[in-house]
Amino acid sequence: MSDRKPTAPNDLSAFWMPFTANRQFKKSPRMFVAAEGMHYTTAEGRKVLDGTAGLWCCNAGHKRPKIVEAIQQQAAELDYAPAFQMGHPKAFELANRLVGIAPEPMEHVFFTNSGSESVETALKIAIAYHRARGDASRTRLIGRERGYHGVNFGGISVGGIVNNRKHFGALLTGVDHLPHTHIPENQFTRGQPEHGATLADDLERICALHDPSTIAAVIVEPMAGSTGVLIPPKGYLQRLRDICSKHGILLIFDEVITGFGRIGGAFAAETFDVMPDMITCAKGLTNGVIPMGAVLTTADIHDAFMTGPENLIELFHGYTYSGNPIASAAGIATLETYAEEGLFDRAHDLGQYWEDAVHSLRGLPHVIDCRNLGLIAGIELEPMAGKPTARAFEAFLRCYDKGVLIRTTGDIIALSPPLIIEKSHIDELFGTIADVLKDLP
Ligand code: PMP
Repeated sequence: MSDRKPTAPNDLSAFWMPFTANRQFKKSPRMFVAAEGMHYTTAEGRKVLDGTAGLWCCNAGHKRPKIVEAIQQQAAELDYAPAFQMGHPKAFELANRLVGIAPEPMEHVFFTNSGSESVETALKIAIAYHRARGDASRTRLIGRERGYHGVNFGGISVGGIVNNRKHFGALLTGVDHLPHTHIPENQFTRGQPEHGATLADDLERICALHDPSTIAAVIVEPMAGSTGVLIPPKGYLQRLRDICSKHGILLIFDEVITGFGRIGGAFAAETFDVMPDMITCAKGLTNGVIPMGAVLTTADIHDAFMTGPENLIELFHGYTYSGNPIASAAGIATLETYAEEGLFDRAHDLGQYWEDAVHSLRGLPHVIDCRNLGLIAGIELEPMAGKPTARAFEAFLRCYDKGVLIRTTGDIIALSPPLIIEKSHIDELFGTIADVLKDLP
């Protein structure tokens, strides 16, 4: 028995908080203790308007009764069951429902517990798929500068965020990167930018450099979220698709943010009308309430693993919690909530109002770019001299004090509210941001 003295439950020192400057936070913590609909409640009892759907995930807003009940019921009925050589009905039901809303070529679902795990799973499936078809030389993976694909080794290797990569050694070998699509010509574009489709042609250069027969897959976010909402130029994704198809390379869309209504429709693949071979998702799958992710694949990919003698071929991959019953129940209730409330239409219905609100910030101090698509926005601020990220972070703190939750990444404010947002909330969100920007140092 340890004789360490017990720590008070509200002591903040033990929890090593993710992606947080821990010492700074713990000096003046910001705590949420409840949430409902569009709002959080702080420990001091203040209401805070959620401008970020939690962390791009609570697409149906907070404390949704149907989801709460589904979790309670499932916990009382079947709390856990393994998915290795065993099954339970809810995981199959959720997989069917996901396929039901996914673009047509997606026919199978592999469950994970997060976006990061979905990415690792998709990358591994890509390499194993080629091998299963007798093409073991296709092992290279192509990502993109400024891409975010979670924090595991595969994800940071194909990802393009210097800080997330440089501390962790040599990373995966056999990885290359496309250039990002964030170019100055597209400043203050409303919706999809006109310039930059040809940046996809860099994939031909990468193919020529490595020989396409060595490349397993290209992974991109159809719209990059975490690095500041980078909207794909018109025609860019189709060009990527064409080059991948020409060379037998799989195309993976990481839809961890764009999935479940963020830019209209269930998935961005459908909105942009470009079909990848795999889609990774998480976050909105369970409304962020229970950790869960998924990889959607075509029949071609799935079937490549199913052609051996009975029971001899499988994908040697899986998680203890793949298809967890409570997560599955939460996922089913979430998809029902989206459907019943028509939430995948909200990005279209409110799109113009949102766009006008986003671009109303143009001309305010420090604003060097505004961009939007569906119900997402990036507002880029000029970095403070010698102190990158400090200005945007100060905006975040001031908005929080004024009762609005925004997210910042570098010097970019990223907004992605729950899809239940109303016009009055949009007014409040942008009114507060405008006030803050007006006297930001
Ligand atoms: N991929 C993308 C595109 C993401 O935006 C994120 C999270 N923001 C991830 C992967 C990682 O998801 P998680 O944090 O659930 O591991």
